[in-house]
Amino acid sequence: MLSFNLSRLFIVIFFSFSLFVTHSVHAEEVVVYSARIEQLIKPMFDAFTKETGIKVKYTTDNEGALLARLEAEGKNTPADMLITADAGNLWAAAQAGLLKPVQSEVLERNIPAHLRDPQNEWFGLSIRARTLIYNTKKVKPAELSTYENLADPKWRNRLCLRTSKKVYNQSLVAMMIAQYGEAETEKIVKGWVANLATDPLSDDTRALEFVAAGKCDVTLVNTYYFGRLMKKDPNLPLAIFWPNQNNGGVHVNISGAGITRHSRHEQAAIRLLEFLSSDKAQNLFADVNMEYPVNPSIKPDAFVAAWGDFKQSAMNLAKAGELQTAAVKLMDRAGYR
Ligand code: FE
Repeated sequence: MLSFNLSRLFIVIFFSFSLFVTHSVHAEEVVVYSARIEQLIKPMFDAFTKETGIKVKYTTDNEGALLARLEAEGKNTPADMLITADAGNLWAAAQAGLLKPVQSEVLERNIPAHLRDPQNEWFGLSIRARTLIYNTKKVKPAELSTYENLADPKWRNRLCLRTSKKVYNQSLVAMMIAQYGEAETEKIVKGWVANLATDPLSDDTRALEFVAAGKCDVTLVNTYYFGRLMKKDPNLPLAIFWPNQNNGGVHVNISGAGITRHSRHEQAAIRLLEFLSSDKAQNLFADVNMEYPVNPSIKPDAFVAAWGDFKQSAMNLAKAGELQTAAVKLMDRAGYR
């Protein structure tokens, strides 16, 4: 009798415990793996929690480590959402089967079609423009026109570029392949290499510093690096130029997000994704890194807006992923290190 009661007690305890566990698994929270650093995501997560009561837990690391982790964890991953920069990275995550498609009218309304995956597995949340920056003492803006014009011999020993190992340049060249075809793009990239004033540099900031110091006259960087440097030292002889305004538009890329294939809080995660595309979050999401909102009804922050309006490329950024391998091979053939 006693043992019967004890085992009944055990059963009751067991079921109460499993109910508790089940309940806490379904508690309102979203787990995010982010390649964007804490200061670029926390303000939006806080705003989301304040509005919805849904908690956001996050881990930050570089995109390679996060993709490897998602892959290794498989269906046991605690992650519901992946946030990273560059469509090339988001495309790779989708290609590896780590994301799942999301049908959402809110996302379709808030995010222009070229800034999200045609299969709905990733969505752009902010725009970064990869544009030309020149030394104002050495270049007149009228001398500049397009990305391809930087291959002209008039720029011999005047160009600085970041290394081709960075996904930003791989995506840029991939999008050029989509626009001009492979043969024409290879000619352009060879022309760039012939015009280099120095070996390719480790990062965008270094390229800007070289231009500011007069070691080269023009470079190709993401606008927020220019913004950071100019906020630190407004007197640097640097200015922005928007290329290809009559011919394809400025190359843009995104930082963005997708819902993981094995998300356990899918509805809450979609709510977070929709929130990040909303008016309220779009300002924050772009402003924290001096980027542009993807949502065209939202204005960029005043410091960024002062750089002027520009026409952006309207080609779907999935091309940056699809043509990435071709771009890497092309840059290698062209001697772009
Ligand atoms: Fe960056």
